[in-house]
Amino acid sequence: MTASVISRESVPGTGRAAQGAIELRRVSKHYGDVVAVDQLDLTVQPGEFVTLLGPSGSGKTTTMMMVAGFEEHTAGTVLIDAKPVDTLPPRDRNLGVVFQNYALFPHMSALENVEFALRMRKVPRAERRRRAEVALDRVGLGKMGGRKPRQLSGGQQQRVALARALVFNPAALLLDEPMAALDKRLREQMQEEIKTLQKGLGITVLFVTHDQDEAMAMSDRIVVMRDGKIVQSGPPEEVYNHPLTDWVASFLGDTNLIPCTVVERNGEEAVVDLGGLGLARVRDRGASGENYAVSIRPEHLKFRTRASADNGCAATLVSSTNLGATVRHRLTAGGHELQLRELSSDRAERLVPDGELWVGWDADKAQLLVLES
Ligand code: ADP
Ligand code: MG
Repeated sequence: MTASVISRESVPGTGRAAQGAIELRRVSKHYGDVVAVDQLDLTVQPGEFVTLLGPSGSGKTTTMMMVAGFEEHTAGTVLIDAKPVDTLPPRDRNLGVVFQNYALFPHMSALENVEFALRMRKVPRAERRRRAEVALDRVGLGKMGGRKPRQLSGGQQQRVALARALVFNPAALLLDEPMAALDKRLREQMQEEIKTLQKGLGITVLFVTHDQDEAMAMSDRIVVMRDGKIVQSGPPEEVYNHPLTDWVASFLGDTNLIPCTVVERNGEEAVVDLGGLGLARVRDRGASGENYAVSIRPEHLKFRTRASADNGCAATLVSSTNLGATVRHRLTAGGHELQLRELSSDRAERLVPDGELWVGWDADKAQLLVLES
């Protein structure tokens, strides 16, 4: 699948790059007593790849379905390219949608499935066939147009769904856990293909996943959802390295959470008391609450030969586990249990003179956050 896949001929003069802005203003969805989505504000810029990331039940699918027009919202407004679309049926919203189960019509061939998107939009028969063939060809299924979905593998069905979503040159693409049914290797391959396709077309993508690695790998921006609300959003590295709460920190991966008291806050930085680990300067994004902790990812904790001025402490090694590419060390330091992860290839370079071990970290890799739980 390459970037030139889908013809742009129906977008003459190509204002395309400026197309596909999605905006949700205070959008809510209630199912009886269940608040599936709670006053969500979200803006996706044209050409941006934004991922809704959250655990099962956090409201991701509901949010996407309201943008697509398959679910009616209880309150708020959805805008596409600055126009309210609240009363527009799905087919008039100019959005390509791939559902979690692909939702291919089982009785139609792959080609007929792709054509269907054009038939809905009243494209004449001959042009329909030609464009569907081109779209299928370019997702690598040119020879399989005659097959029914059940005669295709999961990955192939997913490509058909993608071709169907893109064949009418939509303003934006909405993808709900499109890789969930694929095995790991194929999933990673499809992630790269979708990313390449998106960059080549410059198309807006609103992507849904519960898989933090997938979100990290694909997104320009990650929007973390919990209980129908956005709890944090930002570029992947920012959300990963600078979580606002312990829940976000833990949801995005392993981390060391060290309870602390705040001594001083000055803008981007804070001085905190980490108990047995002493005073430390850490990053501060202004989150406020009752109880605080510092989050340091295991790969940002480093072995040191002796204490540096700040952020260092004597440690005791409890266990080391080889995980292949990395080694996970469990340590105690200053009365805390810590996890340190290093590349297996770095392991031999570590010096531990007279058995004394020190650990430390860079101040900009330690994040002050609010303890919710
Ligand atoms: P996600 O996609 O993040 O797993 P969903 O958007 O599917 O979450 O669901 C959000 C919440 O709304 C959940 O609590 C779910 O049980 C509820 N929900 C979703 N669809 C319906 C429905 N048709 N009727 C009642 N509750 C629903
Ligand atoms: Mg879902």
